[in-house]
Amino acid sequence: RAKAEGRNGFQFFEATMHEAAKEKLFLEAALRDALSDNQFTLYYQPQVDLASGRLIGLEALLRWQHPQFGNIPPSRFIPIAEGCGLITDIGEWVLREACRQNRAWMDAGIAVTPVAVNVSAIQLHHGNLQPAVEAALASSGLPPSLLELEVTESLFIDASPRTLEQMSALRLLGISFSLDDFGTGYSSLKYLKQFPIDKLKIDQSFVRDLFEDDDDLAIADAIVSMGRRLRLKVIAEGIEDAQQLALLSEIGCEFGQGFFFALPMSADELVHWRATRETMDN
Ligand code: C2E
Ligand code: MG
Ligand code: MG
Ligand code: MG
Repeated sequence: RAKAEGRNGFQFFEATMHEAAKEKLFLEAALRDALSDNQFTLYYQPQVDLASGRLIGLEALLRWQHPQFGNIPPSRFIPIAEGCGLITDIGEWVLREACRQNRAWMDAGIAVTPVAVNVSAIQLHHGNLQPAVEAALASSGLPPSLLELEVTESLFIDASPRTLEQMSALRLLGISFSLDDFGTGYSSLKYLKQFPIDKLKIDQSFVRDLFEDDDDLAIADAIVSMGRRLRLKVIAEGIEDAQQLALLSEIGCEFGQGFFFALPMSADELVHWRATRETMDN
């Protein structure tokens, strides 16, 4: 019921905010209250080893429940938060919350996996990602090896020396970096050599029609081969059916994420999901 209301709320929102400029102003103002009013939560989507189905990690995904308009998707508000500078505060909240939650699972004796947090290039360019990550680790007590940061290729555009410095310092701490939406940005492959990247995420646009489109299969195959040669892990995003899974396994893609395995879930739902799977495995 709450979900349906959320959806109607968002439709109402879309109907009201027909002008882009009006929407932007509204969202900017609403985002300012969202943090202080606790309107944000994190959902977690499982990442699995394709051969065994074993859980290897979780991606934290931000959810915004507006009191009036319901659930507003990140594709709508993240760009606005980036544009008005609020992404720094929001990003810090996401880091703190993901680290706190993963540490809580660790303390509860639930087998832990790394949690992957999406970070905006702006957080790195402004130079406050490193202190924010260090603070989140310190306040939560989460071991750095249990935190992963997802960046996109847009990071490489306008990257300053400080960008690379922060990434290198964070990696020395034991944090790893994934390149999200790989293959969709405007970047050169030389950056894979220059920046400390550990994992490539094959963008879901290449996975969607994998079974029907030979070109997508060729691209996915090339990413997997390149990843192997460069000693990078490769994970496919957006796996929705068994045919996609079969093809990805065939080309040697090791890891995957998508609705076929699990939707993004609240922390409580995730604990439940893991418990049911463990009984299934035994
Ligand atoms: P992303 O990081 O590439 O995250 C994957 C998106 O694909 C998520 O959308 C997820 O719900 C969705 N997804 C997962 N499996 C499937 C599938 O099988 N099929 C389809 N069609 N979609 C799938 P979501 O949660 O709406 O997030 C959208 C984007 O918003 C993310 O893309 C990321 O770029 C951004 N985002 C989300 N949370 C944060 C955050 O905390 N900070 C920042 N800076 N960006 C965030
Ligand atoms: Mg991501
Ligand atoms: Mg992605
Ligand atoms: Mg994305």
